[in-house]
Amino acid sequence: MADLGAEWVQLDEPSLVKDQSEADLELFTDLYKPILATKHGLKILAQTYFGDVRDSYDLLTSLDFDGLGLDFLEGAETLDLVKSKGFPADKTLFAGIINGKNIWKANYDKKLALIKQLPVADDKLVLSTSCSLLHVPYTLANEPQLDEKYKRYLAFAAEKLTELTDLETILTGNGDAILKANQALFAQPRYEENETITRQVASLKESDFHREPAFEERAAIQKKEFNLPELPTTTIGSFPQTREVRRNRSKFKKGEITKDQYDEFNREQIKACVEFQEKIGLDVLVHGEFERNDMVEYFGEQLEGFLFTSNAWVQSYGVRCVKPPIIWGDVARTHDMTVKESVYAQSLTDKPVKGMLTGPVTILNWSFPREDLSPKETTYQIALAIQAETLALEKNGIKIIQIDEPALRENLPLRKSDWYSRYLDWAIPAFRLVHSKVQPSTQVHTHMCYSEFGDILDAIDAMDADVISFEASRADLTLLDQLNRDHFKTHVGPGVYDIHSPRIPSEKEVAGTIEKILKKVPLNNVWINPDCGLKTRGETETTASLENVVAATKEVRQELAHEGR
Ligand code: GLN
Ligand code: ZN
Repeated sequence: MADLGAEWVQLDEPSLVKDQSEADLELFTDLYKPILATKHGLKILAQTYFGDVRDSYDLLTSLDFDGLGLDFLEGAETLDLVKSKGFPADKTLFAGIINGKNIWKANYDKKLALIKQLPVADDKLVLSTSCSLLHVPYTLANEPQLDEKYKRYLAFAAEKLTELTDLETILTGNGDAILKANQALFAQPRYEENETITRQVASLKESDFHREPAFEERAAIQKKEFNLPELPTTTIGSFPQTREVRRNRSKFKKGEITKDQYDEFNREQIKACVEFQEKIGLDVLVHGEFERNDMVEYFGEQLEGFLFTSNAWVQSYGVRCVKPPIIWGDVARTHDMTVKESVYAQSLTDKPVKGMLTGPVTILNWSFPREDLSPKETTYQIALAIQAETLALEKNGIKIIQIDEPALRENLPLRKSDWYSRYLDWAIPAFRLVHSKVQPSTQVHTHMCYSEFGDILDAIDAMDADVISFEASRADLTLLDQLNRDHFKTHVGPGVYDIHSPRIPSEKEVAGTIEKILKKVPLNNVWINPDCGLKTRGETETTASLENVVAATKEVRQELAHEGR
């Protein structure tokens, strides 16, 4: 780098925002001393983000770094640290003041007030984004369809760079007009408040978050109500989104078919799906989710308060991208969102059909959240909307309702010491709020995937669902030991095969997996299901796999009966 003429080298060390032990800090020192002893004329920047460096601030300021990059957005204690401990005069502060994770335009007055508090000389201050811009879409220039009344409040990656130069212009005395325009924008309310919903959230009581009667009593009632066989079989909700299903949706979006034609096609899909599930002998059926493009977008599009972009893609993982909706205002439910499809599916069979909803924490975590309302309050607004939908399903005869929370773990704070005090303390109640008002005989399921759950099983149990299905087959069912260790109370379907591969598990293999589960989880608590939704799979492998799952379950049931277990 020095040979190539670089002035600065940035070393990213975001892990410093996690809880650091003495040993961690010693290791950091041992690793960096030699690097900092031979700089070859380069300036070295230690860059952190996604939190504050409360455990390592003293160390970082004492080592021979030339610059420190600190996050003033997510770093709850960053400003306090810098103010109370001071900042070394010989180092440059790279101050992360523009939010690199969200899409809202910055309030310049607030940013200037923050900058004024920083104890550094002008020539030792660099204004920066709080983290890399990987998490936000590229530019608003790609959103010609979005009305200016919305766009003026937004800043994507390119616009955030302009915000940094705007602030510099203002600070150097040439930005009066820029500042006035920004002040004018923030002087008016951005959206019209929904007073009903804000009042509802404000008046929530402790009892709104608790379902009665307690778990065991409900379990006994539900056992009688459904009379399901041992090891009940079910799926996670979606069935393959075939080319025809996607073509139907795109034709409707382009206006080539009417809403009636669109719905009619989906009804045919639901009918075929229910017939298939009955034929192979699953116990709890689903409608198949053919009307849904994405599990968050589907609800966002129907709820009040969401805004959608055309091209605001961000990376999800690898080459996969998502287009998160923006939570623009207060979230409210104005009409039934899933009742029609579930009721139709239930009308076709005597077996219970599971209603299928996306949970409030996942809707929040997979959207761009508001900055003028806390995540907790926003999630409670969403939870009340999903609660109303849950009750509507129940009122219309749907007796098992699944509320998916695949993204629950995703926003867990990086500092373990913050897990309960800054996240789970409201995220878990938000889920309970959704189902606290249903009848004891209504069975509430949830589903989680994409993450490890072993270390938050107590929080998951506290969600107080009746049944949970986990994506666990890929982790070689290590989750089973953890469930066993923690005396997990919720009935559980640990996922008997991995749906992320087209491979068809044999009957024998599935039977073996079920036996493994039964070694760790009490028989009466076990459900049998694939480990996630089937929408990305083809029809052929789905049919074969599910047939094998049902056959394997029947085989194990027979063995159990034979052994008198
Ligand atoms: N019910 C959803 C489905 O089956 C759950 C999706 C998910 O776990 N991400 O598609
Ligand atoms: Zn899943």
